[in-house]
Amino acid sequence: MDFRIPRGTMDLMPGEVEKWQYIEEKARDLCRRYHFSEVRTPLFEQTELFRRGVGETTDIVEKEMYTFTDQGGRSLTLRPEGTASIVRSFVEKKVYGEPQPTKWYYIGPMYRYERPQAGRQRQFHQFGVEVFGTTAPGMDAEVIDLGFQFYRTLGLDGVKVELNSVGCPRCRPIHREKLIEYLTPRKEELCKDCLSRLDRNPMRILDCKNESCREVTEKAPRMVDHLCDDCKSHFEEVQENLQLLDVPYVLNTQMVRGLDYYTQTAFEFVIEGGAGSLGGGGRYNGLVEEIGGPEMPGIGFGLGLERTLLALEEQGLELPARYGVDCYVIALGDDAKKRAISLLKELREVGCSADRDYLDRKMKGQMKAADRMGARYAAILGENELKENRIKVKELATGNQETIQLDRLADYIRQGRKD
Ligand SMILES: [Zn+2]
Ligand SMILES: [Zn+2]
Repeated sequence: MDFRIPRGTMDLMPGEVEKWQYIEEKARDLCRRYHFSEVRTPLFEQTELFRRGVGETTDIVEKEMYTFTDQGGRSLTLRPEGTASIVRSFVEKKVYGEPQPTKWYYIGPMYRYERPQAGRQRQFHQFGVEVFGTTAPGMDAEVIDLGFQFYRTLGLDGVKVELNSVGCPRCRPIHREKLIEYLTPRKEELCKDCLSRLDRNPMRILDCKNESCREVTEKAPRMVDHLCDDCKSHFEEVQENLQLLDVPYVLNTQMVRGLDYYTQTAFEFVIEGGAGSLGGGGRYNGLVEEIGGPEMPGIGFGLGLERTLLALEEQGLELPARYGVDCYVIALGDDAKKRAISLLKELREVGCSADRDYLDRKMKGQMKAADRMGARYAAILGENELKENRIKVKELATGNQETIQLDRLADYIRQGRKD
């Protein structure tokens, strides 16, 4: 039987995985500087959590979840996004009782049953942040800035922040009425999905990608024109803060984001080319209560790492590929081979990466192996060198070679590693 990798998943092989490590490292370092702490939640949760936390009428819950029943008859779902789990953990651990705000981040795989294409996998990876316990517009701006800086530190060009306010439970119903009033006489022009959204969630029609729907919604009543005083001043202050942080943004009054729980600020990071939307987020002031916690505001984002990599590739940005080994120890003769074992140990103890031959290859074969693994140095120990307590060290890129004291090898390689 031929085993195949499941559709929409990837093996990250050596040479590729280093790019992921690099991106993750950048995200972690940025979070450290913005004072966000990492949280790791399980890959699966009770199905009901996502129904509640993501929203019954979303595509994710309606069509895309990996749901299964475990041996105990419980319905579980592989997480399709990061926020619901983080909120569950915030509520369950009663973190809301501690001094606020709480600033968290996560990096890891998510699962959605979608048609796989470039930058879109069924197991995909997100870097996300969530902040609880403040409605301050300055925090909205900090979160957006953090996402924007993530792309900047990776060297991505032309990332745009699109910004909108989707209002709150006080002003949204008014806009909703106006929207239904406007859309109902035009419903023949809406796509099938939007037709069913008309009663349940008409705002979602605003960001339908269907051509005919777009034409209909172009002149539809805009949420930003119906914001209550609170939402209006909040939105203005978010923009003021973004300007202070020098984060360039454009207003996109049609953007509502796919998830039901957003209130006020909604944003997206977009880029020209195949990646399109890199990710986004928004404020979710009602979500903690929805998940069984107290009234507690929140804001966050989730950024797709596959799409980030796709955009980096499209811009021809080289990420560090495979890390070679610092020193490959070539030993010839039984005594030298024994000494090589402790040499490797010494090299590793001072922080260098080291490897040697395990296949009894001759000198030429060992040299080839060193080349193939991208070794910086080859250290050659023959019976003669061993007797004189010396070793030959060759820098492979330059061909430069010198003979040094055997007990100086670890220091020598460590020094070379630094320059
Ligand atoms: Zn409002
Ligand atoms: Zn539509």
